[in-house]
Amino acid sequence: MKTVTILGATGSVGTSTLDLVERSPEAFRVVALTANCDVTRLAAAALRTRAQRAVVADESCLPALREALAGSGIEAAGGEAAVTEAAALGADVTVAAIVGCAGLKPAMAAVKNGGTLALANKEALVSAGEVMNAAVQQSGAILLPVDSEHSAIFQCLDAQLSHRVSRIILTASGGPFRDRTLDEMRGITPAQAVAHPNWSMGAKISVDSATMMNKGLELIEAFHLFPVSADQIEIVVHRQSVIHSMVEYVDGSMLAQLGTPDMRTPIACALAWPDRMATPGERLDLVRVGRLDFEAPDPARFPALRLAREALEAGGARPAILNAANEVAVGAFLKGRVGYLEIAAIVADTLDRCNPPAPSSLDEVLEVDREARALAEERVKDRVA
Ligand code: NDP
Repeated sequence: MKTVTILGATGSVGTSTLDLVERSPEAFRVVALTANCDVTRLAAAALRTRAQRAVVADESCLPALREALAGSGIEAAGGEAAVTEAAALGADVTVAAIVGCAGLKPAMAAVKNGGTLALANKEALVSAGEVMNAAVQQSGAILLPVDSEHSAIFQCLDAQLSHRVSRIILTASGGPFRDRTLDEMRGITPAQAVAHPNWSMGAKISVDSATMMNKGLELIEAFHLFPVSADQIEIVVHRQSVIHSMVEYVDGSMLAQLGTPDMRTPIACALAWPDRMATPGERLDLVRVGRLDFEAPDPARFPALRLAREALEAGGARPAILNAANEVAVGAFLKGRVGYLEIAAIVADTLDRCNPPAPSSLDEVLEVDREARALAEERVKDRVA
């Protein structure tokens, strides 16, 4: 029996995690579930799983949560600090599935507490890679990837032979606009951008997939998770999303992990590790898939890839600035305040104007994040005006 805390339990990854946990009540006991403000979903999940605690980050939603849980014996809490506290309750596995840098503090709290952090929240590792890895080293926590690409690499990478890896190949679906010209991209609406051809995901990551910033963030995430240099990580567009990523060894052998595009597989891999657990869902039918296609990504139509690689190579505060500016720009796009092509432009502009020193602590990372957000927000306002 493992104890589990799910940060971001009401989101896409959180809901898939709950599905697995609820199918195996003999294997998992829920400690805490958190959300931002979706009280209906959070309270229902807490009641179903008989969680010890349910937490909303937005404190104004706490009265509704208290009401929904009245008489159940489940503790209700609210506020950012309460989410971080829930992350540090000492569950065997803490699933980090909050979207954005808002998940960084809770993820770090779980890491400092030891145990296993199953990380979906890539923005946290992108912003604070060095700081988070140092905390992992210090506490002895185990950091397991949930992102499907990184789970694939994790499964193909023999830890004893990591010095014999020559390349990591991250596959990318290319998103819904992979065949559009730059001109056709100009008028893309939020509704079009969140409709991913292969995966069903939250709004922010869906837009990131459309701009391919998601693959840029994953490049930085892979750098922090695996013992390779930036130039050993390549990105290949693979439309079918059947191969989730690959590892090549010095002898020329390339290992790949394949599966249907269902997040429950990589989540299960992290939840059950080092064991395996059964998942529901469709199995891969290779005959029906028929063929696997690969192509190089187009840097002209997807400038986010270059911005992310440059940020990774420059290091220091650059990845945190890239991430913060992207969060602001995507948020503005989803609200209809800026156009689709302006997302990468706002990120590039913020990277040009923001130059703080390399952060070496959690507080310093959060300071870089705040500074970059303020600059990106200024640029959003300029563009709206
Ligand atoms: P969703 O938008 O579906 O869910 C986000 C979750 O975070 C919700 O529970 C939401 O609560 C909570 N949340 C939002 N803002 C805050 C905040 N300020 N403080 C605390 N909690 C907050 O996102 P996804 O599940 O799609 O993605 C989650 C993370 O996993 C992202 O980092 C994403 O990149 C990564 N990921 C997602 C994949 C997917 O298939 N969806 C695949 C691989 C990685 P509420 O519901 O109350 O708003």
